[in-house]
Amino acid sequence: MARILVVEDEKDLQDVLSYNLRQAGHEATLVETGQEALARVGTETPDLILLDLMLPDMSGIDVCRALKSGPATRHIPVVMLTAKGEEIDRVVGFELGADDYVVKPYSMRELTLRLQAILRRRSTPAEGNGVVTFGRLRIDREGHRVWVDGGEIGLTALELRLLCTLHDRRGRVQSRAVLLDEVWRMSSDVNTRTVDTHVKRLREKLGDAGGYLETVRGVGYRFTGGPPDDDDGSDDGVPGPPRDGSAKKPPKTP
Ligand code: CA
Repeated sequence: MARILVVEDEKDLQDVLSYNLRQAGHEATLVETGQEALARVGTETPDLILLDLMLPDMSGIDVCRALKSGPATRHIPVVMLTAKGEEIDRVVGFELGADDYVVKPYSMRELTLRLQAILRRRSTPAEGNGVVTFGRLRIDREGHRVWVDGGEIGLTALELRLLCTLHDRRGRVQSRAVLLDEVWRMSSDVNTRTVDTHVKRLREKLGDAGGYLETVRGVGYRFTGGPPDDDDGSDDGVPGPPRDGSAKKPPKTP
């Protein structure tokens, strides 16, 4: 169960959304304007916000900007509801840190699955500074070491930070501006090609695991897990084994 704030002014969509979210076991709160949304998050923090782009009083972009610049609200995942042909606004949405978007008319099934994916990622306990294994990749943050298929590769501190940032937000597009801010701690008026150069180098170093770093044309990068044939209940796109190490290993043949 998640508390979802729905910011949508179209009555029909409100009804469909609230019905389906409740069916999916969530608690839906409906507001119609950007001002209401901002006022609401000031008093109670939702687990996720569904944000329409075209609101009667202000643009969803401005609402997203306000949310993502507030220390108390920036961590709340935002899914933008956009109409077809709002290509540029989508990009702007990501520049502002929106976590995903769906294009109207969307299927409720698609929307619900996207929401589940974001919520599940969010509820995964923080992996902290421990060792993380993802498919062919193994990252030891504390020890500053990275392995691909068991072979260690050498990364600079910055490359490691870039890799970890993308990995932590796997499945979500990260714009160059966001990466500059998070990894380089620089504002986006610095040449964003810096990001491209470093991602390229990181990919080369990762070799066979470089494919995890996907380029999203016109937007940025995404850590991707390949085909969605998961069997371990996680949404990382990589089949098992379970994180608790209880996986049954095939018997070793002498
Ligand atoms: Ca609208």
